[in-house]
Amino acid sequence: MANRSNRERPKLALVFGNCLIINHIHSAKGGIVSGAITAYRLKQIRIVWDDSQAAAWTPRRAREKKVQMDIRLGNGFDVHAFEPGDHVILCGIELPFEKALAGHSDADVGMHAITDAVYGALAEGDIGRHFPPSDPQWKGADSQVFLAHAIGLASDRNYAIANIDCTLICEAPKIGPHAEAMRQKLSALTGVEVARISVKATTSERLGFTGRGEGIAALATVALVGK
Ligand SMILES: [Zn+2]
Repeated sequence: MANRSNRERPKLALVFGNCLIINHIHSAKGGIVSGAITAYRLKQIRIVWDDSQAAAWTPRRAREKKVQMDIRLGNGFDVHAFEPGDHVILCGIELPFEKALAGHSDADVGMHAITDAVYGALAEGDIGRHFPPSDPQWKGADSQVFLAHAIGLASDRNYAIANIDCTLICEAPKIGPHAEAMRQKLSALTGVEVARISVKATTSERLGFTGRGEGIAALATVALVGK
């Protein structure tokens, strides 16, 4: 057995996603492990104890397996008009401001867009379908309730959030100084690591209703991945 060439030796192949690692295996006595085929499948990890199986699991096949992953994208868009007030709530963070946002709930336009993106990825309509504005129990509601519901639906269907990207569109207030706090807040609410959450802002170059300072618009994209 010890004289067998490397080419004849059984191999251990570890497959992590589309990464293939092959090593020769030696028994505790310094000989070669027999060529009996034994395969262990542990979700993302596959261990193959045979040359033929190791050869069959090529990077191309691994890529094909990856393509079969269940990925869903959703987008969300929301607008709220300004009204008299002294603060706005954006992505769960309260910002002192010379106006407030009008709305049935707390008018968190960023969180509404993100919530709608999750519903969209699930083909589950929008916030209005699950929390009708006509229902008085949602008056002044904390928008975290809406996002938690959408995430709960995703989890029930075995989806995890891969990333969140939210864009707030307004001339004022300035979003940049608060963007990190918003990311942290969204991370705490969703359980998604901060590095996978983007909050950014832009103006509309003083054009349109956001340019005239009449309100704030928000766009969001959310990717869901089957667990
Ligand atoms: Zn809204």
